[in-house]
Amino acid sequence: MFWDNHMHSNFSGDSDAAPIDMINSAKAKGLLGITFTDHIDIDYPKEYGFFDLDLDNYYISQHALALEQSTEDFTILTGLEVGLQPHIAKKCQAVVNQFPYDFIIGSTHIVDRLDPYFDDFWQQGSEKDALDRYYACILENINAFTDFDSLGHLDYAFRYAKTPDIKNNTHTPYFDIIDAILSQIIKLDKALEINTAALRKGMKNPNPAASIIKRYHELGGKLITIGADAHTPEDVGADFNILPDLLSSCGFTEYAVYKKRKPVLYPLG
Ligand SMILES: [Zn+2]
Ligand SMILES: [Zn+2]
Repeated sequence: MFWDNHMHSNFSGDSDAAPIDMINSAKAKGLLGITFTDHIDIDYPKEYGFFDLDLDNYYISQHALALEQSTEDFTILTGLEVGLQPHIAKKCQAVVNQFPYDFIIGSTHIVDRLDPYFDDFWQQGSEKDALDRYYACILENINAFTDFDSLGHLDYAFRYAKTPDIKNNTHTPYFDIIDAILSQIIKLDKALEINTAALRKGMKNPNPAASIIKRYHELGGKLITIGADAHTPEDVGADFNILPDLLSSCGFTEYAVYKKRKPVLYPLG
């Protein structure tokens, strides 16, 4: 029995889903609850699109809908997926402070003003160099901004890598920098997010890969959160059936749901 703690609705620049449709899908799939984590990416490069968020409207209407649609068996929480960049740390802090969110995901979507979703990120040099820089940027982001609860989709950029061998080998060639990232989130007492959207983007593992989840556990990591990163009702809770075996093989028996920014633990199956 799962919660899905990462999803987007039409408050996000890249989703057309009505919040009520996400809720009804989650209820129909038998989930225990959900957290809306719509995108706010401050200073997102304008040439790519629009990832700003009307925070007042978002929090007030999602929170009202959550109160109206939550039942004894199904809880709706309100969070944010905050897109991090080193130079916007203060602005991210102001966003997080504005409303009493349940859950903040800290994600890296932009690397040196480029988005790995688009080709120009991959055209700067070798794929390996671009991915080395991607991980280094995550470490810079979580040194600059620490008021998040879970580190979103750690090896996300690999979803868009061009070479299959590179796309599915997200750990070994980058072992030291990943150790530094995992050690930092453990030191900060943050969670590592397990994001199943990677499986819908041609990867063989969730983000991050099982070996990274295992390494996080070996280094002393205790908190994981789970999300399908759905942008449509059909994708709510997608591929969660693989998680109990995968996560127990990595050493985890519980996952965390953040309520009022505090982790509450649930058993993994
Ligand atoms: Zn994201
Ligand atoms: Zn997302």
